[in-house]
Amino acid sequence: MQCAVCHRRINKPAALSHGLPVGPRCSVKLGLVTPKPRLPSMGPRIVVRVDEDQIPLFQTEGVL
Ligand SMILES: [Zn+2]
Repeated sequence: MQCAVCHRRINKPAALSHGLPVGPRCSVKLGLVTPKPRLPSMGPRIVVRVDEDQIPLFQTEGVL
């Protein structure tokens, strides 16, 4: 079976256009089907690391 639009081989038509099988990509392109919502991509994760024994920013000891 091949797509009626791009003539690529498809396993299963996602939609039919004038009775002809249309692949998933082309059927979305033609607006025959609505694309599946994509899973939320792994965006940049903000990792804030706070060490418990951090070196203090302002060391007053020994500064004279
Ligand atoms: Zn196609």
